[in-house]
Amino acid sequence: MKKIIAVLGFSLAALTGCGEEENVLVVGTNASFPPFEYIGGESGNEIMGFDIDIVKKVAEDNGKTLKVEDMSFDSLIVALNAGRIDMIAAGMTITPERQANVDFSDPYYEATQVVVTRKGNTTIQSIDDLKGKKISVQLGTTGDIMAKEFSDQVVAFNTGFEAMMELQNSRVDLMLFDKAPAANLLKKNQELELQELPFNAEYYGLAMAKGNAELLKQVNTTLASMKANGDFDALLSKHIK
Ligand code: GLN
Repeated sequence: MKKIIAVLGFSLAALTGCGEEENVLVVGTNASFPPFEYIGGESGNEIMGFDIDIVKKVAEDNGKTLKVEDMSFDSLIVALNAGRIDMIAAGMTITPERQANVDFSDPYYEATQVVVTRKGNTTIQSIDDLKGKKISVQLGTTGDIMAKEFSDQVVAFNTGFEAMMELQNSRVDLMLFDKAPAANLLKKNQELELQELPFNAEYYGLAMAKGNAELLKQVNTTLASMKANGDFDALLSKHIK
């Protein structure tokens, strides 16, 4: 009898566990991309940022508990398609190549690549000057893809910070990175500077597994209402502007 009760208790626990899972929104990110996602807070190990505040609202609007999982940027789409996460919130640019594998929300932020160099380096005046240069990037990003179009000397790191250190240590000529995170990294670095070149605009979207129409609709509804009621602008001023 004891055994039966124990087994029953166990399966009940398993069942409740399952039920709870359905009420959790598991979001994958790469928390090395301030101000969109980074590790900080009072405890020093909280994942926070602009994207995190957006997905908090998505979870709240849909009565779900938010769980954020930190991983390398280039493993996010794999994790999504393996069902380990429900959504990606990682300053991820909407590209046709990615759209072949995931569904994106409506675009929520316009970004662009920038060039970071050591101060006083005047060798990069135009996009053409990227040709053949040694470039550091974050692995699997649009900066990485673009750098390879110009040069076969591209070194990719798991975080923008590591790519920046490579530049600071003079092992590359420049770094290609998204503008707001580059500006954020440079706040604490007096030796490097940021240069804007006429690169194309990029648009960030939240990514979901293909065919998850319900979640996609919920996300777009939350984004639209945040834009309409001023919450979105408040987050922009809190984190970016
Ligand atoms: N926006 C860039 C991309 O999608 C970089 C994103 C990131 O490093 N988190 O590739």
